[in-house]
Amino acid sequence: MEGWRSNAHSRNPTAMTKLLLLPGDGIGPEVIAEVKRVAERLGGDVELEERRFGGASYEAEGVPLTEATLALAKACDAVLMGAVGGPKWADVPRQLRPEAGLLALRAGMEVFANLRPAVCFASLAEASTLKREVVEGLDIMIVRELTGGVYFGQPRGIETLPDGQKRGVDTQVYTTHEIERVSRVAFELARGRRGKVTSAEKSNVMETGHLWREVVTALHAREYADVSLEHMLADNAAMQLVKNPRQFDVIVTDNLFGDILSDEAAQLTGSLGMLPSAALGAPGRPGLYEPIHGSAPDIAGKGLANPLAAILSFGMALRWSLGRPDLDERLTAAVEAALGAGARTRDLGGSLGTREMGDEVLARL
Ligand code: NAD
Repeated sequence: MEGWRSNAHSRNPTAMTKLLLLPGDGIGPEVIAEVKRVAERLGGDVELEERRFGGASYEAEGVPLTEATLALAKACDAVLMGAVGGPKWADVPRQLRPEAGLLALRAGMEVFANLRPAVCFASLAEASTLKREVVEGLDIMIVRELTGGVYFGQPRGIETLPDGQKRGVDTQVYTTHEIERVSRVAFELARGRRGKVTSAEKSNVMETGHLWREVVTALHAREYADVSLEHMLADNAAMQLVKNPRQFDVIVTDNLFGDILSDEAAQLTGSLGMLPSAALGAPGRPGLYEPIHGSAPDIAGKGLANPLAAILSFGMALRWSLGRPDLDERLTAAVEAALGAGARTRDLGGSLGTREMGDEVLARL
């Protein structure tokens, strides 16, 4: 497969690439400010653009995502978002809420594969609720299908039955095309990692699960026989993730199971403030990168947020969309060294502020 992977590996390292920053709301601008400092230090010929997004855009423009910003997002090599939302916009009509801007951005950019790495830095193994020997050295990539399945399937809704009871319906639906394209991303990722894909579904009790297994098996035999493929029922995958998480390399799964399994995997590694993510679309299209945390209204404006999730998300953008995996490696090593030297924000049990944590990373670049 050519495209985002070959982008990452064969782009001319001296070519200029464009990254759109969407700081958003709450702690978003605070953590993105640290990304800007890191990007400046790293160089890498990345040109930065910045636009309002979410509540900030709603205040200034009346909508959480303007058409011009979406058009720019689609024209850049990658988009890095901070976070959106907050109590200030709780009473705004649903379609104008900050979160609606995020859904519109994901849909507009057609990013169908959500990459959620769960990496346990050795120095943070104590922060996990699991034993050190279970999580130390953990490095899993969960690939979650993001634009199909039960969150989008029709029919859906709640109806009132003749006897006055109510009936709620959601529909789980997948096509060959949807399963193939997200599985392809997983196989490609595995080739650059430890060469193993675990596909999780419920083929024992669900038609979509049966189809999922069939399509993944066929794609594997046709194009990815060099990668090792294992099928696992999603409930067993949930259990194995806490029992022996290091058995996994890349896990590919649908939207619903991916939602649950990726949150479970995230918690293996400690704080929300540490976790980056990426959402990728068709080959050659820009990726959308974001820390998985929200706008954290409780600490916004206080300079307390951990900027590492945003910084590591920038690293993912360097790797997967901006053609500079070498700079991602440098950045991740700097983060690891800062943590190894004891740098901790409050969410990690320390006392550093956002900018001080940024300083710790910068000092090691
Ligand atoms: P949250 O992730 O904003 O916060 C949960 C808890 O984690 C809070 O106590 C917060 O202080 C802490 N936290 C989060 N990020 C942190 C960081 N970088 N450093 C230190 N501590 C951190 O989730 P929430 O409180 O459920 O949601 C708040 C708002 O964010 C809501 O409006 C929600 O809709 C929105 N939200 C946005 C996104 C997004 O932009 N992708 C994701 C989740 C929630």
